[in-house]
Amino acid sequence: MASHNIVVVGASAGVAGLTTAWILSQDSSKVVTVIAKHMPGDYDIEYASPWAGANFMPVGAENTRLAKWEQETWPPLRDLAEHYPEAGIHFQDTLIYNRQKDRGSATGSWFESLTKPNAWYKNMMPNFRSIASYKLPPGIDNAQAFTSVCINTALYLPWLVSQCLKNGVVFKRGVLRHIKDAVGFHHSGNHADAIINCTGLSSKYLGGVDDSKLHPVRGQIVVVRNDPGQMMATSGCDDGDDETLYIMTRAAGGGTIIGGTYQKDDANPLPDPNTATRIMKRAVELSPKLVQKGQGIEGLDVIRHAVGLRPLRDGGPRVEADRVGDLTIVHNYGHGGYGYQVSFGCANDTIALMNGALRGHVAKSKL
Ligand code: FAD
Repeated sequence: MASHNIVVVGASAGVAGLTTAWILSQDSSKVVTVIAKHMPGDYDIEYASPWAGANFMPVGAENTRLAKWEQETWPPLRDLAEHYPEAGIHFQDTLIYNRQKDRGSATGSWFESLTKPNAWYKNMMPNFRSIASYKLPPGIDNAQAFTSVCINTALYLPWLVSQCLKNGVVFKRGVLRHIKDAVGFHHSGNHADAIINCTGLSSKYLGGVDDSKLHPVRGQIVVVRNDPGQMMATSGCDDGDDETLYIMTRAAGGGTIIGGTYQKDDANPLPDPNTATRIMKRAVELSPKLVQKGQGIEGLDVIRHAVGLRPLRDGGPRVEADRVGDLTIVHNYGHGGYGYQVSFGCANDTIALMNGALRGHVAKSKL
């Protein structure tokens, strides 16, 4: 079988590129080079993946491509949690609260499908149950619980790198100014036959891509040593339209992530102390088990305060084949606040588009 040289840009660090490179590398006819500015181990405001919680909480509306990607990503994540403890993913009991008054707010809209009663994902998530109305705390209109996963990104990203290395993928550091520069980066010394672009928010400025539909959505979080014993998320809070309330404990001692904010077009990388206080107060109110009886936020044992930027794209992620000059490029970026939970679905569609292009179906093909 003829082999193809593939360059995946931005793959080494980001969950989108790494997942794509790993699946690609399982096909021995694909010789894969990954080039990236940031790698696992780096913490940088330009690099979203390490900052994520990261958990799986379906946010795609029923029968959309987002929901399809989530449906395709849940089985592999579940499999990793069940059979590969070294990947740093574990199961967590999950409780979701909805308040009608959050409808239409930034966070209420983001979580609309997640918090709906009788949500479409009820048959997908294990142990799904609606919470009886007499058990709801004051102010909560409906709630559901199920089993999901939480990913320790500090373990999972390097684990993905190691799976790629095992399959012969070559990793290189590099910074591209224009997407077509990637063609000369293949480790064979020959030109790449196809390029996969997984540069996240940087696709806003990368030459040849320049995607003005991309927006940073600032997420400020607090990482603590306390463990409340379950994941929780709400449709919103009373501290502002763009402030959120969620709690998740990472696998294998990764700490508990308390969120947060959802601030569109705000790229400030510095944690704001007042915001941090509000985040911690809300979390302790929602989940008193985070601290000892009678304690407030002084009972939280803080590891760090942090900020990451979600790469949100108007109209949804770009998973699309394109031509720049005579080059075939397949894009896989713009996954907002759900990059992990769509990672396998998007990677599979990206690879299908690339294979179609390599067979000669190069004209703009969209999924
Ligand atoms: P990135 O991780 O940003 O990776 C981009 C890669 O491209 C990097 O390696 C970078 O170095 C490289 N690159 C960029 N430009 C160039 C260039 N010019 N040349 C070479 N390389 C380049 N998602 C979930 O599913 N669940 C969650 O619970 C969750 N929680 C989140 C919480 C927070 C606070 C944040 C900020 C995000 C969260 N997300 C969550 C979203 C998730 O983190 C992102 O959607 C995802 O990480 C995006 O991955 P990516 O690979 O597209 O981009």
